[in-house]
Amino acid sequence: MANFLIAANPRGGSGHRFRAAAATDVLESADRLRAAQRDWAALAVDDRLSALAQWSEAMRSASEDLVDALTEDTGRALISRAELDGALARIAHWQRKAPDLLTEISQGHSESAPSVRYQHRRDPLGLVAVISPWNFPLLLMLIDAVPALAAGCAVLAKPSEQTPRFVEPLMETVRSVPSLAAVFDCLLGGPETGAAVVDAADAVCFTGSVATGRQVGRQAGERLIPAFLELGGKDPLIVLADADVQEAARIALRGSVLATGQACQSIERVYVHQSLYDAFVPELIAQASAVTLNTERVDRGHLGPFIDPRQADLVEAQLEDALAQGAALHCGGLVRQDGGAWCKPAVLTGTNHGMALYRDETFGPVIPVMSFATDDEAVDLANDSEFGLSAAVLGEQAHALSVAARLRAGAVSINDASLTSQVGDVEKDSYGVSGVGRSRMGPSGLLRFLRRQALLVQTAPAAPLDAFKEVERRTVTDA
Ligand code: NAD
Repeated sequence: MANFLIAANPRGGSGHRFRAAAATDVLESADRLRAAQRDWAALAVDDRLSALAQWSEAMRSASEDLVDALTEDTGRALISRAELDGALARIAHWQRKAPDLLTEISQGHSESAPSVRYQHRRDPLGLVAVISPWNFPLLLMLIDAVPALAAGCAVLAKPSEQTPRFVEPLMETVRSVPSLAAVFDCLLGGPETGAAVVDAADAVCFTGSVATGRQVGRQAGERLIPAFLELGGKDPLIVLADADVQEAARIALRGSVLATGQACQSIERVYVHQSLYDAFVPELIAQASAVTLNTERVDRGHLGPFIDPRQADLVEAQLEDALAQGAALHCGGLVRQDGGAWCKPAVLTGTNHGMALYRDETFGPVIPVMSFATDDEAVDLANDSEFGLSAAVLGEQAHALSVAARLRAGAVSINDASLTSQVGDVEKDSYGVSGVGRSRMGPSGLLRFLRRQALLVQTAPAAPLDAFKEVERRTVTDA
């Protein structure tokens, strides 16, 4: 029997109803993709890249439909357009980088056995499952799908059930490039569909919460398939004594509230040197109070609604927990209107690490501020989290770099925040529960989809069995 799901509508009103793929649909699609993958992998790199270039053109032609669908599902217009541009930029990036990376020959002589010459052959992993979240529905699917396809894999994607509208116009663009349509499919559905997709694949790229990441990791572990997990964050921003206060407030605010804080690399904790604290807090409050919401029109204002209304409840609960424990809320908070939920940037002081908003991911425009006395204290506070996705340090550059090197975070922005959203070509590895597996950024973002097979050529006579025969050990007295 068909299973229908309803996606949340972030601006209120009735949500989008769609059919979830059943386990049999997943198996059928996986069989079809796997059968076509060998031919796709056998194509010259340029032919695969040319199919991806045609796809990019088709998406560009369908940009209005794609952006409209994203806008409807995420409740924001400008970021939806930027999201499509970002996805197209990822395709262009791999067009430039893939030819060298995929044709690079790794060969030489073994150091431990000098008569053995080696050469590496690269073999695509096969069928890759790409499971993605709702915060950047298109970009976070293509960020893994495109390099996997460029590497010669087939891809079965399962985007979030909260934001499914873009899939129909996207699949129309895929169908316009038949060689690509043979190796790329995208199925709608919730957790059950996701689990079936993981079960059908040879490797999995998952972007989402830590809780789901653990389940996907367990399932991949059971099947012994590679899993690349990109999970949550609780990014700290440190304002050192030699930072500029106004600039620091501007960076902290943008880093925290952009996309309504619904980005994994959002700043969720701010630590300010005690000498700047009294100037920083009012500056941040003033700047935060000037932020506008797009409650009236989707294409007006700074911040859109929460995409998933359950996120608003979670943010509200974290704010209530902080206030109950003595925190002071200086500005901002939830705005519920016409069935949608927004949040004006909330600046809190009087906070401490016993509060949920320091422990759990917030995914909302909430900025708790604490002061510190020494660099050691700032480092300890920033590292006091199970997450380790990214971080930011503001101050004199050499000073900031020395503090950054002590943080347990996969990427640290110096004198800016959230630079990983702009820098896709630099490798980084998460700490803690923020992720597992080789970097999706930089060259490994492509090379991780290729298994290296070592071809080992013996150039000297092969060793006889007698070389390994036990012989009675001769002692000094025998001689
Ligand atoms: P989620 O974990 O709830 O869902 C992510 C995806 O997993 C969805 O498509 C969902 O249907 C699917 N899913 C759920 N259960 C599954 C299961 N058992 N097996 C397979 N698939 C399953 O995450 P979300 O709420 O959609 O997204 C928000 C989270 O994503 C936040 O924690 C955020 O930090 C994280 N995120 C991380 C990055 C990163 O690059 N590290 C980027 C963006 C978002």
